[in-house]
Amino acid sequence: MMVNICYNVNLMNPSRIFFVILLVFFIVSQPKAFAARGGNEKLHGVFQGMTQEKFFRAYPRKSARTYREDENGQWITFNEPLKGPVLHMATFHVQQGKVAGWTIDDRDEVVDEYLGEFCSQGIIRGMPKIYAALKEVLRRISLPDFLNVTDRRRPVLVTEYYDSGTARFANTSEIISSAEDAPAGEMGLTIIKLSSALNDADSPLPIEGVLAHELAHRVLDHARKGRVTCNAEREANGKVRQWGFAEEFKAASKMFGHKEGEPVSCREE
Ligand SMILES: [Zn+2]
Repeated sequence: MMVNICYNVNLMNPSRIFFVILLVFFIVSQPKAFAARGGNEKLHGVFQGMTQEKFFRAYPRKSARTYREDENGQWITFNEPLKGPVLHMATFHVQQGKVAGWTIDDRDEVVDEYLGEFCSQGIIRGMPKIYAALKEVLRRISLPDFLNVTDRRRPVLVTEYYDSGTARFANTSEIISSAEDAPAGEMGLTIIKLSSALNDADSPLPIEGVLAHELAHRVLDHARKGRVTCNAEREANGKVRQWGFAEEFKAASKMFGHKEGEPVSCREE
């Protein structure tokens, strides 16, 4: 869990209560079909009703991709298959000490698990448009690229910075791990920093365009390759279109324009 501590933001204020109400509403209004698989089926020896002790012997916690817990139990996602090339994701629901069921490639659930851990609470609680756009982009990118950017061995952390108020001078984001969380970051990490001004956009499209563009840089590994050229920008924009965000990219270009001093050759229509 990534918690943001900001100089001028009081986390105990009514927005926290609002968040809890929103969360309760979300849980009540969207019962997840977690017993979609299970029944008489088996997945690598796991069956519905299996005790969690046995389950975690087959699927060790330290091998999990992501993890989430609430009053209805634990949701733990693993690579499917657990060893070898990753083709899918399997999310298991453990309730009252037993496996209640599982789903394959439940993107919405995995996005929730992932962002609960690697997105700042400043965004989750205080920048709802950015948070919604982030979820939308992660839901829509291709599965191989999603598996890549949410690989906890090299996670993408998303946090905010402020371009106004006293927090523009300094603020802190804190990652909190629980004993249940698998290790993370052994292959480094990527930090995407988003301006508070992004949350002022009237439509989600430009925010999604910007987020998809930043994720494309990560997928194409531009920072590690030292590629900060116009070609890299074009390559990233190509990836954004390939993911199906052409309209969002256009909206982002229109709203946020181009970097100051950026050569004309970097510009795209
Ligand atoms: Zn770029």
